[in-house]
Amino acid sequence: MATRDFYDVLGVDRNATEDEIKKAYRALARTHHPDVREDKHAAEQHFKEINEAYAVLSDRRKREQYDRFGQVPSGNGFSDFGGFGGGFGDIFDMFFNEPRTASAHRRAGPTRGSDLRYDLEISLEDAFHGTTREITFEHLAPCSTCKGSGAEPGTLIVRCDHCNGTGSVRHVRQTPFGHFATQSTCQACMGSGQRPQSPCRACQGHGRREATRTLNVRIPAGVDDGSRIRVAGSGEAGEHGGSQGDLYVYLHVRAHPQFRRDGADTFTDVAASFPQAALGSQINVPSLEGELPLTLTPGTQSGTSYRLRGHGMPHVRGSHRGDHIVTVYVAVPTKLTRRQRELLEEYARAGGDHIEEKSFFARVKEAFRPD
Ligand SMILES: [Zn+2]
Ligand SMILES: [Zn+2]
Repeated sequence: MATRDFYDVLGVDRNATEDEIKKAYRALARTHHPDVREDKHAAEQHFKEINEAYAVLSDRRKREQYDRFGQVPSGNGFSDFGGFGGGFGDIFDMFFNEPRTASAHRRAGPTRGSDLRYDLEISLEDAFHGTTREITFEHLAPCSTCKGSGAEPGTLIVRCDHCNGTGSVRHVRQTPFGHFATQSTCQACMGSGQRPQSPCRACQGHGRREATRTLNVRIPAGVDDGSRIRVAGSGEAGEHGGSQGDLYVYLHVRAHPQFRRDGADTFTDVAASFPQAALGSQINVPSLEGELPLTLTPGTQSGTSYRLRGHGMPHVRGSHRGDHIVTVYVAVPTKLTRRQRELLEEYARAGGDHIEEKSFFARVKEAFRPD
């Protein structure tokens, strides 16, 4: 499934101001919040989409990247709202412009893994028929030794003794004006409040390791250049038990020597002889599904286009198809047999056309050419 354009999701213009984006987001968040909608699951999905779009478009740097690359490099912005517990706190803090109070000292809970991008080139035939392609890529996978926990097998995850399991540490500074306390994330446990008793040796306690993955990606018939396919959960492993990121496969459809494409319609050119065009006839024309019969009406002019309905590209969703548009060019022969020349000259005379008389030498030469 291709991911929707973030601007479309928020219903704003490509050059919308920060203010317009914020306004659009607030309006959408109010109407689509899962608590106010009947269909909870669909609402959650939609709400997540709205939040993803806002997280990127409200951040100047990420928006710039999105405008340039059509995506945001993995690892930032795409927060996971699964579970709908604590995660929502953040959104509503932002939503109502309240200073973050309690949530500022929340433990760093599960962090979702990064999304990955894979660029894949396919032929127009592949796009027409649909295909399955095997791709291989490097990513951070959950460590198989510790199952992602970061603890050496057989050992326990214990409370972090540096922060007593709170995930944050308090520093008190003495100044001439009094005591100032600041709080920051515990570096020993990275805010999780827990630490492996003895870190997994295979992954140094990170719970993730570099791994090579091979995956079959199904490419549905009808995809276009620039389409992206989301393979949910095939990105990088999360941290502290967070879910895996997604893999986005960006499709690049190679130019075809014979067919052009515009949306669901395909285009090609064919040659017809002058008699075929003048008298009308049935010719075979190439298409992505093989040769198709085309009936030329008598008096077809060079450059005339015929639309073969339903013989273009399939749509990714739905069963109807685009059209195949064939432009007919009348080919002028560059070599004629003697018989053909005689007939053409006769034809010209019948139509009153003036033809240059051939020299005696040319006629002799022609007499010795085999038909
Ligand atoms: Zn490990
Ligand atoms: Zn700690």
